[in-house]
Amino acid sequence: MKNKIFIVFVALVVLLVLLLAVFSCMNRGPEMQQRMTSIDPQPAAAPFTPAVSDTVPDLHFCKTINGRETGRAVGAKGKFWTNGQTLKIGFIGGSAAQRKYVTDAFAEWAKYVNLNFTFPASGPYDCRVAFDPSSGSWSYVGTDCRTIAQKSPTMNIGWAGNDVALHEIGHFLGLLHEHQNPTSAPCWNREAVIRDLSGPPNNWSVAMIESNVLNPALAGNVITTPLDPISIMMYSIPGAWTCDGKGFPGGKLLSGVDKTFIAARYPKPAPPPAETVTISKADAAALLSVLQNNAAAADTAVVRFKKLTGQ
Ligand SMILES: [Zn+2]
Repeated sequence: MKNKIFIVFVALVVLLVLLLAVFSCMNRGPEMQQRMTSIDPQPAAAPFTPAVSDTVPDLHFCKTINGRETGRAVGAKGKFWTNGQTLKIGFIGGSAAQRKYVTDAFAEWAKYVNLNFTFPASGPYDCRVAFDPSSGSWSYVGTDCRTIAQKSPTMNIGWAGNDVALHEIGHFLGLLHEHQNPTSAPCWNREAVIRDLSGPPNNWSVAMIESNVLNPALAGNVITTPLDPISIMMYSIPGAWTCDGKGFPGGKLLSGVDKTFIAARYPKPAPPPAETVTISKADAAALLSVLQNNAAAADTAVVRFKKLTGQ
């Protein structure tokens, strides 16, 4: 009798444990489902994905340093590097993550230019990238970097973002600000631009605002296309800054024009033409017949083919 009571008691305990387990799973089901669906699928064909760009405040503007504003793409004449050359990139400080989004950005530009970017352990360097958060984001333009002492940076990434790195590297390659395209610069609300950029976070002087935003590049000093509102070299322009209230989205990735423009400045060598030989139609038919119908005679056919073509 005692054994039966004990068996029944054990059975009830097991049943209770099972019920609790099932109840627990029912409660956790929706949570697990939510977790599963919260993982965004990766876009299959995304060529380059900004990782941390959303941390950039809207009104942070890059400034070019001593950049002689020399147009949809605006390239500074005389400041492009020599096509085909190797450019050495060095870092002044920076975390592994910061260095990675800069190297990733160089790799993105490298797809379209005939330049070789290397990251040697020691200098001299053509481009020296610092990450001083108090200095804003800026870069010297193209070969102007040669005029800077090796111990000093030629580029500063003042806030996180692959798009910022892409933009500053555009300057390093010789590109200027797209919003200063002399062919079709925005119609500025000068007072609003000066009011906003003279205050935090930029705190720029009027001269700095004019040289980096308001003054278009001198048409004779630049190579341009029509204004490209999504160029990586075009910053996000609020509507309050233009005379017609029309803003510009700015670029987060290299636009199609960015790619073709820079590829034209640093053209990759054309692939060698495919080797072709000309033989008579009758000989071609005979050769094809042998190759298709008699594999054992293929070697003989190849010898004959070589004789026909003089190879
Ligand atoms: Zn810039």
